Amino acid sequence: MSMSVQGTILVLDGVATNRIMLKVQLTAAWYQVVQGDKLKGLPALLRRTRPDLVIASQTLPDGSASDVKAILAGDPTLSDVPVVAITQQNDKAARVQALADGLDDVLAYPYKDTLLLAHVRSLLRARVERQELQVEDKTKSIGFAETGTALITPAPSSRIAILTLAARTGAIWNKALATRVPQPISSHDLPNLSGVLSSPVPDAIVVELWDGATCRNMLADLRSRAATRHTVLIGVIPDASSDQTAEALDWGVDAVCQGGFDPDEIAVRLKSQIARKRRDDRLRASLRNGLADSLTDPLTGLCNRRFAMRALHQIARQSSQSDRGFAIMLADLDHFKSINDQFGHDAGDQVLTETASRLQQSVDQRGFVARFGGEEFMICLQNVTPANALRAAERICACICSEPFRLGEPQNPILVTISVGLVLHAPPLADSVLKSDDMEGLLKSADRALYAAKQSGRNQVRLRRSAA
Ligand code: GH3
Ligand code: MG
Ligand code: MG
Repeated sequence: MSMSVQGTILVLDGVATNRIMLKVQLTAAWYQVVQGDKLKGLPALLRRTRPDLVIASQTLPDGSASDVKAILAGDPTLSDVPVVAITQQNDKAARVQALADGLDDVLAYPYKDTLLLAHVRSLLRARVERQELQVEDKTKSIGFAETGTALITPAPSSRIAILTLAARTGAIWNKALATRVPQPISSHDLPNLSGVLSSPVPDAIVVELWDGATCRNMLADLRSRAATRHTVLIGVIPDASSDQTAEALDWGVDAVCQGGFDPDEIAVRLKSQIARKRRDDRLRASLRNGLADSLTDPLTGLCNRRFAMRALHQIARQSSQSDRGFAIMLADLDHFKSINDQFGHDAGDQVLTETASRLQQSVDQRGFVARFGGEEFMICLQNVTPANALRAAERICACICSEPFRLGEPQNPILVTISVGLVLHAPPLADSVLKSDDMEGLLKSADRALYAAKQSGRNQVRLRRSAA
């Protein structure tokens, strides 16, 4: 393996000089290049080399670039590897057919290095983004992918927007596209983006591109806004300018139609790009759910330790800015082991759930409660005076012991108590409170206070004032 490699690209061409030329171009740009010359033996080559992108001659000795795409599609671990076809001449009908076959883009000889590399960058960037989504999603999706997909259907209705310099152009494009795509289309003219940005935001925007800084600004604007960050962008440029196409790809346009508006090409590109966006949207949605799962404790629904630590750092930061104090409590159920022993593990679980809801109720909106582990809870209160924090801690202690736990069996109330270690962090706060070891220090103090509460007979609050 060589160093500084940004990705592995498989070059497939029956003509050795073509392969060598591509290899030189791509190696100079720090890509790792592997080569093949025909379809025969391709599945084994793919498994061995695991390319991130394939650049294939449209005509191979024993097939075509479309066959390559079909072979990739047959292997779930390779199905999203993009394929760029290289054709001998710029033939529009052949290009539209190749795109309809599922090829990700088509380049015609002779092409500029800069254009090839812009395509490579654009496709690899999209693939890396998707892989990041997939890697994170894996923890969650194994075995449930199909169910997840089924739950999401029916897909939200999609919309396409057209963005042109002149309203008249937009009207012409709209009319030509309307018979070729199923989605409703709206037309907007530049430089007013507000129509496109107002909800519902379109899934795809077909945008007229021109040469100049204002065009780059518009693309940067569309790519950076939350509403359109993931929207498909299909650029249309009037001529076959390689530089302009390369630039548009680098500015985040997903695909470019050169040589002016061609409704057939736009329609087929829209179809495949919107399908890709749907897959990515699903991954993003499942990732959001997964993220929520990874931050909550499944038994009690409280936030878990990981989330709590993040929140604590945020609170410490806000507190040092506002010069207001905060309090951290560690609360641990007393003799919980004997509750488990006496009433069983399920009853123990119910005690934990009931404890969680009592703590949550007691703290209400003034702070947050987390399950730190086992039968230990962490409570953080923001913007509190020492006196208020102490009162809140006493209330927490009381909310557990004052009322026996009933667990669905009224005749069998269980007396439960909790011990609380409280630490106060009062202003003025040193900047050092932002450091993670300081947060650890605060928690250690709270833990010592908790230990003192246990030592003094449990069911009580002990306070430690942190050194300012
Ligand atoms: P102390 O008053 O000193 O805190 O005594 P304790 O018995 O509460 O503390 P100890 O740490 O000895 O025991 C904690 C017990 O909590 C042991 C463990 O089996 C139990 N436990 C931890 N997590 C769970 C859980 O999720 N469900 C149930 N039912 N029990 C749990
Ligand atoms: Mg305990
Ligand atoms: Mg404990």
